[in-house]
Amino acid sequence: MLQMSDGRRLTNTEAIHHSPQNNMNRPFIIPVFLPNMGCPHQCAFCNQRAITGATSKFPPAQNLHKMITSYLAHKGSHRGDTFIAFYGGNFMGMDPERMGMMLSLASEFIENGQAAGIRMSTRPDTITDENLSLIRNYPVSTIELGVQSMDDRVLEASLRGHRASDTITAVNRLKEEGYEIGLQMMIGLPEDNDDRAIQTASAIADLSPDFVRVYPTVVLKNSLLATWYKQGAYTPLELDACVTLVKNIYLLFKEKNIRVIRMGLQDTEDLMKNSSILAGPYHPAFGHLVYSEIFLDAAIALIESHTLSRDTVILKVRPENISMMRGLNNKNTRILKNRFNVKTLKIVPDSTMNGDHLVTIK
Ligand code: SF4
Repeated sequence: MLQMSDGRRLTNTEAIHHSPQNNMNRPFIIPVFLPNMGCPHQCAFCNQRAITGATSKFPPAQNLHKMITSYLAHKGSHRGDTFIAFYGGNFMGMDPERMGMMLSLASEFIENGQAAGIRMSTRPDTITDENLSLIRNYPVSTIELGVQSMDDRVLEASLRGHRASDTITAVNRLKEEGYEIGLQMMIGLPEDNDDRAIQTASAIADLSPDFVRVYPTVVLKNSLLATWYKQGAYTPLELDACVTLVKNIYLLFKEKNIRVIRMGLQDTEDLMKNSSILAGPYHPAFGHLVYSEIFLDAAIALIESHTLSRDTVILKVRPENISMMRGLNNKNTRILKNRFNVKTLKIVPDSTMNGDHLVTIK
């Protein structure tokens, strides 16, 4: 067992399965962004156009067909099954005709063997009997719900317009229907705090989704949150504190064997090009920062548990984990050297190391 710096104990078998380097057999997702389509209103933190760069006009079918076909041409041979994913809006909030049109278009690719299934993201309050009976006619495999928080105070302050109980009802209905379920949570929303974020993660884990995504709240241009930020009514989380909080949330999910498939907003050209982010804990390699902190904790626990000469310390990690052990710009190396008064700290790759170990000491 490794003692984490926050007191948690991490077993050596709690390896990091989802390191960013591991692309083998990962599903190949073709994202079809439908920014804010089907949304009943604008949630306080949201501006999907800033995130995805897509226009808010409903895309003509022939454009979508062309876009999906050109994506397919870029699929690498090592990738897993292909899925067509409707993201960026509230899919089941669209009118049935538009939903049917999108689903029929995607189904063609599945019928001719070019894709394995359809994914979509939608709000918990759209999981109604009518919508479920509509999508049952199509090869939908995965439904992601924008849960954001399981605390009604946070949901209300963020103008979500649904309650935590809607998420519980929705997940139970989706389970009855047999869908793969992904739940998305945000941290740092108005009225949120560390305890509420951990409680949200815990409530989400209790629902046993197939996977989760964790998004720190950033202040996007032209969102209501941007107005509150400029008025001084909203303060975003600091990056370092946010990384530590997401680390604890990651470990909570890991302990329950729930896959965390994303931490932090996807780095898109549109996000940076238009300077869409006014403030907040954004980092293009946010997940890497979280993994690095986990490696740092493991190394601290390891060094503390060994009585050794502090002149030279050699840490061994698997080759694919070297950069996470070093930390961004060697941050972890500096912290370890200062903390333990080590003259020379070497981090060396060891491909023979058991994949279950984060780090060992030589
Ligand atoms: S968070 Fe989801 S439901 Fe709210 S405005 Fe954005 S896309 Fe629509």
